[in-house]
Amino acid sequence: MARKIGSRYTANQILGRGSAGTVWLGEGPEGPVAIKLLREDLASDQELVGRFVQERTALLGLEHPNVVSVRDLVVDGNDLALVMDLVRGTDLRTRLDRERRLAPEAAVAIAADVAEGLAAAHAAGVVHRDVKPENVLLDMQGPLGPGGSHRALLTDFGIAKLIDSPRRTRATKIIGTPDYLAPEIVEGLPPRAAVDIYALATVLYELLAGFTPFGGGHPGAVLRRHVTETVVPLPGIPEELWQLLVQCLAKAPASRLRASELASRLREQLPALRGMPPLDVDEPDAEPEEPSQTPPAGPPETPVRVRRGAVPLVPGAKPDSNRDTHTSMRVPAPDELAGGARGTARAPRAAGAPRPGSARHRATTRRRRLILAVAAVAVAAAAGTGAWLATSDEAASPQDTKNTAPASP
Ligand code: ADP
Repeated sequence: MARKIGSRYTANQILGRGSAGTVWLGEGPEGPVAIKLLREDLASDQELVGRFVQERTALLGLEHPNVVSVRDLVVDGNDLALVMDLVRGTDLRTRLDRERRLAPEAAVAIAADVAEGLAAAHAAGVVHRDVKPENVLLDMQGPLGPGGSHRALLTDFGIAKLIDSPRRTRATKIIGTPDYLAPEIVEGLPPRAAVDIYALATVLYELLAGFTPFGGGHPGAVLRRHVTETVVPLPGIPEELWQLLVQCLAKAPASRLRASELASRLREQLPALRGMPPLDVDEPDAEPEEPSQTPPAGPPETPVRVRRGAVPLVPGAKPDSNRDTHTSMRVPAPDELAGGARGTARAPRAAGAPRPGSARHRATTRRRRLILAVAAVAVAAAAGTGAWLATSDEAASPQDTKNTAPASP
């Protein structure tokens, strides 16, 4: 069942099927290749074909050991095909399905590879937008890396952006799984490089835990959790690794690390993770208890259930008990999303500092304003000048300002 693709390639055998089409093992002038034949409905969409041709240079330009390079783009009759480097192995989803959870060393080594691929892409101005285990291929013919892991390569660069046209998105609402979507995408902001970091941190969490931090149930509920819930610690995870995950799962894109920094921080952790078994975690509870309760520290042989850190959408309200529906969902107001609600959209509070929006925070703020006002009056009276003092909260409380690590390329 060999099939000619353009004048230079032959597709010989199906390697796998994905959301955008079928991937074939093929042959080209320079040897074996992987050929992704786009779904018929996509290939017959003239506007989409036009965009693929337009973006040809960006698609073909990425060369990196952790990126599956696109070598050619073939538009031939009803066929639209991407000719890619052939990776002999499997995708990360298949490995995860088989092993359920990976040992931390292998998980971190894979995430570091992907972060390096992302760093190269971001430096070239390309945002992947669809980082997930299905798009990470493991090269099983190459040498083994830390923890016995195979080299990981990120595939499908730029495809999400091309396929995800406004017209198509309206028709299908959400493309693919919402588990890896950064909160700013849910809020309708343009996806920048930091969305890939959020998605990669979600993948790393999943490799360690066996489930994604905000997944499960109705897609609407998943989207809401991205915006309003805090990520719950995984029992037994080394603190430094946890801090890295928390930082890259920050609601505020600017608080996340850049890809190159994430790659090196992950690699730094590898020696400490050597020989560590997979974490002993069970699926999260469907019905969370009161959010103030911390996960119980069970004996090592008992898997520890993770309780998700539900955050009420409206300050002061009880968190939803039913996470499988979105019937009580309402869109939070902009001030809530900007940090007024108790999400993690702000930089972490200093130890002992009051939680924004809490009674103690309001009292502190009132006290601070009063002191500044009194000081302003005193100075103005003494100097006979106008009020030149900065009386804003921001000027008085540097711990309230956001981290501003640059995010987009
Ligand atoms: P999805 O659309 O779900 O991201 P793909 O269409 O990219 O999936 O790929 C489907 C399957 O084809 C993958 O799971 C993988 O097994 C195989 N595959 C994809 N790209 C390659 C490649 N470059 N080399 C070898 N196999 C590949």
